[in-house]
Amino acid sequence: MPASILVVEDNEDNLTLVVYLLRAHGYEPLLARNGPDGMRIAAETRPDVILLDLLMTDVDGYEVVRAVKKMAGLELTRVVAVTASAMIGDRERIIAAGFDGYIQKPIDPRTFITTLERLLPPVATAAGATGGER
Ligand code: MN
Repeated sequence: MPASILVVEDNEDNLTLVVYLLRAHGYEPLLARNGPDGMRIAAETRPDVILLDLLMTDVDGYEVVRAVKKMAGLELTRVVAVTASAMIGDRERIIAAGFDGYIQKPIDPRTFITTLERLLPPVATAAGATGGER
């Protein structure tokens, strides 16, 4: 079974692109358009992976990752920051906040999936589930 993925993103264009890329590679992501919805859906569905926008109004990605990492049943969930490349300078801060990795914005459609799948256990990739070659 491919990894279950929750995308938390408040920019509709970014959300559309990420969902398109995930579906094209065999994933069927859950979506949240703000931090509180992201926390609620994470608690309810315990996804394998959360792709988490860092900059959101009201409740940002740092708050969401802190909450998610305290939730029972989400100990193995990988939380990946999706953030503008200018903020990659905050790499230490991102990792210290509890993120398991990060993907740069603007999203590069050519590298997005391989970057994401490097952050997953091999069995959790869509291709791994079907025995496809990488
Ligand atoms: Mn945002």
